[in-house]
Amino acid sequence: MKILFAASELAPLAKTGGLADVAGALPRALTELGHDVRAVMPFYGTISREKYAPKLVMPEVLVSLPAGRRALRVWETTSPSEPVFPIYLLEDAALFDRPQLYAEAGVEYPDNALRFAYYCMAAIWMLKGLHWIPDVIVCNDWQTALIPTYLVRNRTMRLDPQLGKIRTLFAIHNLSYQGLYPNYLVYQLGVPWAAFNPYEMEFWGRINLLKGGLVHSHKLVTVSPTYAREIQTDEFGCGLEGLLHTRRQDLTGILNGIDTQVWNPAQDPNLAAAYTRQNKRPKEKCKRDLQEQFGLPLDTPRKQRPLLTVISRLANQKGFDLLTEIMPQVLRTGAQFVLLGTGQPEYHDYFRELAAAHPQQVGLELGFNDALAHQIEAGGDIFLMPSHFEPCGLNQLYSLRYGNVPVVRKTGGLADSIINATPATLKAGKATGFMFTEYKPAALLAAVRKAVATYENDRTHWRKLMDAGMQQDFSWERSAREYETIMQGMLDAMATRGGR
Ligand code: ADP
Repeated sequence: MKILFAASELAPLAKTGGLADVAGALPRALTELGHDVRAVMPFYGTISREKYAPKLVMPEVLVSLPAGRRALRVWETTSPSEPVFPIYLLEDAALFDRPQLYAEAGVEYPDNALRFAYYCMAAIWMLKGLHWIPDVIVCNDWQTALIPTYLVRNRTMRLDPQLGKIRTLFAIHNLSYQGLYPNYLVYQLGVPWAAFNPYEMEFWGRINLLKGGLVHSHKLVTVSPTYAREIQTDEFGCGLEGLLHTRRQDLTGILNGIDTQVWNPAQDPNLAAAYTRQNKRPKEKCKRDLQEQFGLPLDTPRKQRPLLTVISRLANQKGFDLLTEIMPQVLRTGAQFVLLGTGQPEYHDYFRELAAAHPQQVGLELGFNDALAHQIEAGGDIFLMPSHFEPCGLNQLYSLRYGNVPVVRKTGGLADSIINATPATLKAGKATGFMFTEYKPAALLAAVRKAVATYENDRTHWRKLMDAGMQQDFSWERSAREYETIMQGMLDAMATRGGR
């Protein structure tokens, strides 16, 4: 199959969250299965030309929207690790040469709808110029949602004998970001006014780019089976539960994999020492390194304090309202705590004050730091992820692999990837973490206390927990095969029925 993977971020070129990790790894896994996979993303000013040495492959793709006519340039680079796949970078300095991807100081760029409209339309027209027409375009989140909408709603594209045949698969990585904009933008985005109706793009008087993408794509996937069910409910559907329930036959949940080359404690260049499941000892060095970095007291042979860790966007979704309520009690257990994150200012303030009040117990970095994220996974004993909702979640998967035992809430991909520690699962050596269900501070605190107590008083079971986690296989191959099956099904359906 020929597959175009459209994403607004792709690791390591540009990343703000888990979507980038998926966009860097899934195309590679599909390439490995023998498909011709290429990716397309904006050429952000933050992407290093020196490092990725892109070549100009099309001097201009003209995109004519009512908002204005622009010429984007198409560059090509290749993904850094084997097997490589081509990445097209769409360049337009006025749109994409900015310090950040979507927002600065918590404020969204005001022209985001237009920035991604140009990106989507250029991503489609570019294909004609490249003489490479994919069988399937995999779209990811709201930034790419205009691609399926244009392919259906733009008359020239729909009637084009090549573009008209492209199938679209829409992947939902987080339903709570929908691309909501004032309705007058419908005109400027080049979508006919007729599409502004409750069955397509209208949403409580505003235009909803994601909704348009979900309506106009042939098939839908999201990043875990549990989240696929949750988003059909009032609690997690973010207003789109009705639409998703209607389309449930077309919706599949596929758990994300992880890049096992990048996230591998046996060969991670960021770590103070390499370790494996069979030889966990050097992990102690990684812990010491982390404690030293943050000026925390080191473990001694007689006293080992559990080191609790968090790496996260500091957003409500991730459960920080619960965590901030119980931090005093958590610290009273004597555990150490290291947090790496950036996001909502109120959480920055909270953790800054906490770190200032407890310099011997709390380490803090408010920012985005990839190397440190690896060091925290390796140095930590317990990883906290008390999310309110979690489409898939990657950090708990990295934590398993690094022997950093997760404490998670039972939701979305967390529910699908962690086996809760009960007397039976612990005894059988199956447990991989600690799980709580109710979204309440007391429930989180109980789970944290249980984890701390197991670490301190029950080393045999602790080692089993680490062992079982480090043994899990979350490589991309299995997930990529599920994507492959869906896409092949779409093409077979077109061949036999000529439609959905
Ligand atoms: P989400 O996509 O909702 O933010 P995920 O757990 O799916 O959450 O993915 C988050 C990704 O971003 C992980 O690779 C994680 O290591 C990384 N990450 C999040 N915050 C930071 C940070 N402050 N510094 C470095 N990496 C981070």
